[in-house]
Amino acid sequence: MREMVIAGNWKMHTTPTDAGDLARTIATRTREPGVTRVICPPFVCLAAVRDALADDDDVAVGAQNVHHELTGAFTGEISAPMLVGLATWVIVGHSERRRDAGEDDALIAKKIARALDAGLRPILCVGEQLADREAGRANEIVDTQIRGSLADIDPGRARDGGLVIAYEPVWAIGTGRNASGIDASAMTDTIRASLDGAGWGVGAAQTPVLYGGSVTSANIGEFLAEPAIDGALVGGASLKPDEMAGIVARAGITARARGLAG
Ligand code: PEP
Repeated sequence: MREMVIAGNWKMHTTPTDAGDLARTIATRTREPGVTRVICPPFVCLAAVRDALADDDDVAVGAQNVHHELTGAFTGEISAPMLVGLATWVIVGHSERRRDAGEDDALIAKKIARALDAGLRPILCVGEQLADREAGRANEIVDTQIRGSLADIDPGRARDGGLVIAYEPVWAIGTGRNASGIDASAMTDTIRASLDGAGWGVGAAQTPVLYGGSVTSANIGEFLAEPAIDGALVGGASLKPDEMAGIVARAGITARARGLAG
């Protein structure tokens, strides 16, 4: 049975002054057995969120990025060992970093290795551009991303390290235009086939795959109705306690139905 995960990516929102209160409000309103909750604030808010959630060790804290080297002359960067004690998860390969920081699959593979070495659970993001989907190339693009981003990562190590994959079609992120549950589920199958093709064996079926892209409390049900989808990576809606309450409540229903809540 795969874990059900709802992760919130706060992107470049909140400050150390207000992040803790928001995290506590969300944590209080989203207690659902069988649902793993992760909040990913900006780097500078990690300590505030960690401290605010200290009494609620059920909610994990994640970073939004990590550098691929351990130390060195990399001004403004944060390495995996620096995150230890602040976060237990990390988002890697988000499309906004692929777009804005030029991250490619080879670099993302190094980041995943660093995260696993440091004991951080990676959320690997993959997804196609709209032009790729319209050209019928979505599967090919995502397959390439999966194989490239996980090249040289031992499947057992990734599984033991709690790797999660998020399918996030780029055209659905922050646009209010979500994929359909059926299309997201089909891509989830593609992702697991890619893992299988890369020699993951049983790990392919065991790896949680989330959907991300304009998820709200109104549409989360469409994704969680698909047995292949194990939760969501939520951007804009993750800053709104009402939305998160609705999203996690729906995930709780699915967790109970899948026998995860006991
Ligand atoms: C994201 O940031 O990963 C994301 C999916 O954003 P949004 O939910 O706002 O589309």
